[in-house]
Amino acid sequence: MKEEATLVIIKPDGLKKSLTGNILSRLSETKLKIIGAKIVKVNEELAAKHYSHLKDQPFYPELIKYITGKLHGENRVMALVYWGKDAIVKVRQICGATNPEEADPVSIRGAYGRILTTGLYENVVHASSDPSEAEREIKLWFEPEEIVYPLFPTKEVIYQNYKKFVWE
Ligand code: UDP
Ligand code: MG
Repeated sequence: MKEEATLVIIKPDGLKKSLTGNILSRLSETKLKIIGAKIVKVNEELAAKHYSHLKDQPFYPELIKYITGKLHGENRVMALVYWGKDAIVKVRQICGATNPEEADPVSIRGAYGRILTTGLYENVVHASSDPSEAEREIKLWFEPEEIVYPLFPTKEVIYQNYKKFVWE
């Protein structure tokens, strides 16, 4: 058994249907620790990077519309990092199979997912499927300071002429 981290995204349908609480309760059955969590507005760039390996799939354009919230009029997702023993497999198990019709009915996707008439699997959650994917995705979605655990090596950089919003 190894301790590892995994990325979970509650997709726009999960937020639209007010399923966040149910999904977090289900995931808490794993006894894994949440070490990062935030609500994210997903833009085209983040969506394309997250799903870059699927860009040649026929469902890719619909998938980008889905994760950016255009199918649900909902521009939010919730991104979480879970950490603990065998986190990747444990989370994938509770999430269920990619196709919600094939997913175990007691899994999150089996309970709450559906297939759209376009063929897209609207399956409520994303979960990393292996350690290298988890590392790539966590680094894409989270800054080191947003995770309360030193997961991966960091380096210090000094930004010059760096513009950002602060509270007035
Ligand atoms: N997807 C789809 N049809 C497919 C395969 C995938 O609509 O035949 C969507 C689905 O929303 C899925 C996402 O694309 O969650 C990413 O696909 P992947 O194969 O990585 O499945 P996952 O890792 O999410 O189970
Ligand atoms: Mg995947």
